[in-house]
Amino acid sequence: QGSVRFENVRFGYEDDRKILKGIDIEVPAGATVAVVGPSGAGKSTLARLLFRFYDLKSGRITIDGQDISQVTQDSLRAAIGIVPQDTVLFNDTVGYNIAYGREGSTHDDIRAAAQGAAIGDFIESLPDGYETRVGERGLKLSGGEKQRVAIARTLLKNPPILILDEATSALDSRTESEIQATLEQIERGRTTIVIAHRLSTVVNADQIIVLEAGEVAERGTHAELLRKN
Ligand code: ADP
Ligand code: ADP
Repeated sequence: QGSVRFENVRFGYEDDRKILKGIDIEVPAGATVAVVGPSGAGKSTLARLLFRFYDLKSGRITIDGQDISQVTQDSLRAAIGIVPQDTVLFNDTVGYNIAYGREGSTHDDIRAAAQGAAIGDFIESLPDGYETRVGERGLKLSGGEKQRVAIARTLLKNPPILILDEATSALDSRTESEIQATLEQIERGRTTIVIAHRLSTVVNADQIIVLEAGEVAERGTHAELLRKN
């Protein structure tokens, strides 16, 4: 459940400039595929196309064999969770920030998601617990804490497909490895696309795609890519 395929995907935001020049990527259900490359290579564009922010004119993207152009936006949003680079929180309670978009979640569901993201004990230690306000006029969360709230939000949604879009690249290296360990837990059993700058952060991926100027420059496991370079 949740296999993703990009088949000969060509795309440009403006017609005269091609950003993706015929991309083939296969992510088997439950596997983790990393897309690595310099800024501007087209990595986030792949994620936006998977969400169908733009329509493809050339090539196709499928989930479990079904062309995403045939899938409603709502079911795509239900199927795919994203942990972005910089999580922007609402000026509201930490509980609201976790449950946003998941109306009807019980307090137990929210707590379980926060524990899964390893931020539950921290939240419970706050003066008002899950009712503590965050943002401009409330508690200021660190970058790592914000990412854990984003992970909890994703866990509550429980999507079969996960996109980690530079989810740790704004963090200091110690926080980065702590968050990475948590992300590896939530990747289990989900199809995961990891977008990253550096090979060193995606050592455990089943496959690494090196994207350069909209083309796949190399692909293989971390060990295979190290041997080639
Ligand atoms: P990456 O994620 O690898 O840094 P992106 O997919 O964000 O790269 O961007 C790839 C290229 O597409 C860049 O040259 C960028 O300037 C361009 N681009 C991104 N978004 C838009 C947009 N909305 N309109 C036009 N060009 C864009
Ligand atoms: P929900 O769709 O239930 O609100 P999410 O919190 O996973 O659940 O939000 C997913 C939506 O957030 C996507 O549909 C997308 O519109 C948006 N989004 C958040 N971060 C990003 C990002 N880095 N790139 C593109 N879209 C994003």
